[in-house]
Amino acid sequence: MLQTTLNQKLFEFLRQSTSPFHAARTMARMLREAGFEQLFEDQRWSLQPEQRYFVLRDQASLIAFTLAGPDSLTAAYRMLGTHTDSPGLLLKPRPDISANDFAQTGVEIYGSPLLSTWFDRDLSLAGRMTGLDSQGQLVSHLVDIQRPVLMIPSLAIHLDRNLERSAGPDRQKHLTPIFSQNSTHDEHSFYQWLLTETAEETKSIPLESILNTSLFCYDPQPPALFGAHDEFISGARLDNQLSCFVAALALTQAQTRQNRLLICSNHEEVGSTSRSGADSSFLQAIMARIIPDQTDRQCCLNRSLLISLDNAHAVHPNHSDRHDPSHQPQLNQGPVIKHNAGQRYATSDLSAALIKQLARGANIKTQDFVMRNDLACGSTIGPRLSAQLGIRTADIGAPTLAMHSIRETTGSQDPLQLYQLIHHFLIRDQLPTIAH
Ligand SMILES: [Zn+2]
Repeated sequence: MLQTTLNQKLFEFLRQSTSPFHAARTMARMLREAGFEQLFEDQRWSLQPEQRYFVLRDQASLIAFTLAGPDSLTAAYRMLGTHTDSPGLLLKPRPDISANDFAQTGVEIYGSPLLSTWFDRDLSLAGRMTGLDSQGQLVSHLVDIQRPVLMIPSLAIHLDRNLERSAGPDRQKHLTPIFSQNSTHDEHSFYQWLLTETAEETKSIPLESILNTSLFCYDPQPPALFGAHDEFISGARLDNQLSCFVAALALTQAQTRQNRLLICSNHEEVGSTSRSGADSSFLQAIMARIIPDQTDRQCCLNRSLLISLDNAHAVHPNHSDRHDPSHQPQLNQGPVIKHNAGQRYATSDLSAALIKQLARGANIKTQDFVMRNDLACGSTIGPRLSAQLGIRTADIGAPTLAMHSIRETTGSQDPLQLYQLIHHFLIRDQLPTIAH
């Protein structure tokens, strides 16, 4: 696949995936178009060899899988893992706030966003709203306002003392976006406005009253190429929707009949412990349905390999001292294998060797990352899934600058290089193995 085509598809994916729910829906659409059949956890399944399936949990986590022929149903699985959520600002259950003639909307901090980057940006809203329809039935809809409706203005430099600014924003007081002016907005109730604004999306079953929402602020500025020769990509939610897109695309394009599985979990940015997070029963429950016999399942998982995909820290030219001198991944120089002695990444010496062997087979360069000894290391869903399932796992990802900013940067070749490695992993004849 050409780099330009892949990046255009990535940009479209990012534009459509403005919340974890929308990311799951975008992937579900890709899978359906590629012939995957949707299954539901509250029903019994009758799985058939050589077929392709997917299942959603809470509309924000997804597992898709393809089955080999009837003689190979317990053969090794090629697994990919990503997360659908991104750090940001989530509307509080009672968002209406009023101050100095401004109508404002209260927000909670979701995960660890780089808060300074959320100021002075056009913000829109996307997520899920749940309410009652005209028959009194409970219904949920995904909504995306798409246009700018909120803003968190900075305090003018003339009104700020340096001491206050250097301490960063007050997380309770300084992050509340402005939404309207009371004097120009009679019905300044946020929910009233939301009902009017989303009438088109919820038209088929009109919501009479909203009972709850899960709405994330997001920056509607579309992703873009930049640089003298378009070397770079900037966009929101590259962590980790770049990986979601690459993994879903690679799975839909792998045509041969093999055992493969993709898991995209919600709530990674807040620790993964939830009904739909990587610490949940989701993957174990699905594997138990695919291979009901426990011993067969254990043998299969032991033979399998999980590649946990999440972005990696590229070296920043203004802050290269924040990287270990010998481990400074660069943009456009290949997927990054992430190592951590404290097991914050699931990569082991063996799984790293498997990835390097795969990369050689696909003629792709890789880079290695370890955190400096004097900085705390982030994590991914990799260690959790590896521990739960006993599956050999490697953590890799596209090199990225400004991780957790409202707008992150990666190299314009990085999505394609990651795709080529993953595609090779999914389609090669034999999964590389290591002696016991
Ligand atoms: Zn991530």
